[in-house]
Amino acid sequence: MRANCWMGIRNMEVRDVPDPRILNQRDAIVKVTSTAICGSDLHLYNGFMPTMVPGDIVGHEFMGEIIEVGRETKAVKVGDRVVVAFPISCGQCAQCKRGLYTACENSNPNAWLAEKQWGYPTCGAFGYSHTLGGFAGGQAEYVRVPFADVGTLKIEDSSLPDESVLFLSDIFPTGYMGADMLGLKGGETVAVWGCGPVGQFAMASAQLLGAERVIGIDRFEYRLEMAREKAGAETLNYEHVDVLTALREMTGGRGPDHCIDAVGLEAHSASPMYAYDRAKQMMMLETDRPLALRQAIMACRSGGTIAVLGVYGGFIDKFPMGTIVNRSLTIKSAQAHVQRYMRPLLERIQNREIDPRFVITHEMSLDDAPKGYKIFNDKVDDCEKIVLKPH
Ligand code: NAD
Ligand code: ZN
Ligand code: ZN
Repeated sequence: MRANCWMGIRNMEVRDVPDPRILNQRDAIVKVTSTAICGSDLHLYNGFMPTMVPGDIVGHEFMGEIIEVGRETKAVKVGDRVVVAFPISCGQCAQCKRGLYTACENSNPNAWLAEKQWGYPTCGAFGYSHTLGGFAGGQAEYVRVPFADVGTLKIEDSSLPDESVLFLSDIFPTGYMGADMLGLKGGETVAVWGCGPVGQFAMASAQLLGAERVIGIDRFEYRLEMAREKAGAETLNYEHVDVLTALREMTGGRGPDHCIDAVGLEAHSASPMYAYDRAKQMMMLETDRPLALRQAIMACRSGGTIAVLGVYGGFIDKFPMGTIVNRSLTIKSAQAHVQRYMRPLLERIQNREIDPRFVITHEMSLDDAPKGYKIFNDKVDDCEKIVLKPH
């Protein structure tokens, strides 16, 4: 089959690779009909995630048709149309039972690597380094889906196109989880750093959950325009205004009630701190550039919550702990517990409360994946979200 493979930094290649096989009776094989490129894939592309090996098949946002199942797979059968959650989770361990699917204790064969890096093991994930299990990803014609009963969502409504449900695999649940973490009661102002696809879903979800005002922050005008027109946000371009001053002025001097970091470890900034963080990151003195996170913490109203959706890999510098302690702030974060949100969010799509297609700007064949990565990474051609078609 054809699959998009990581061959080194900023080097993706669509190659011929062996077809996947059932290895465990709880597996299914999915023929991929649609798959997407995520901001998290850019961290692989740009070489920020260790334990990638040339030839690794990438991609963790995908859906398709089940063509084979193991004997113990009960909830889905051959011929079913499914969306697949990016975390691989057993559904039976103590963490899965708590709904903390990305902390699954059973699904990562390289748990020791994750444990060494982060203290305790994490789940496996599709196409996302050997620290997360070395599983082949979904930017391919076929994928092996372990624990298929837990990680797949059957789409019975054939009137819903792939594009409307594909993002249940990751970015819609991720953005929604960020808003959910804020404990909104109605009427709040929520500021969101990053107007990429995750930020767009965080903004839209904050409104679904009752926020009165949402403020999106980025530097790309086309992304800010999408935030205004499609996600109902007010916007700030951080290259044109001082974000802390502007947010203070927009919120009666107190700051937004809550903040969401939808940027992560590759943050950019117009301030001299950018050079500082980039240099430290290059010298491996810190693993991540927390420019948006620091700003979100400084901006948040006292007593507010900062939900961190942006991915961070390790250790960061100049973390404003004093601000958190002295201003009663709460930090919440997770790799999205996708399986927890897939079903209720499908209902919201079916009820026409949201149509996730609003983020899609490009559709290409799988063979064009390397070109897609370049466009999405460079934020050119007004690119927000790319869907790839393997068949
Ligand atoms: P993206 O690269 O399309 O978007 C990131 C956006 O942040 C860009 O538009 C960029 O201009 C903006 N940005 C950079 N620096 C900024 C700053 N200082 N202030 C404000 N905006 C800034 O990526 P995406 O697909 O939207 O993903 C965003 C983040 O979410 C990534 O780190 C990704 O890895 C992470 N993610 C996490 C999960 C999870 O489960 N927690 C799931 C999916 C994605
Ligand atoms: Zn993703
Ligand atoms: Zn588990």
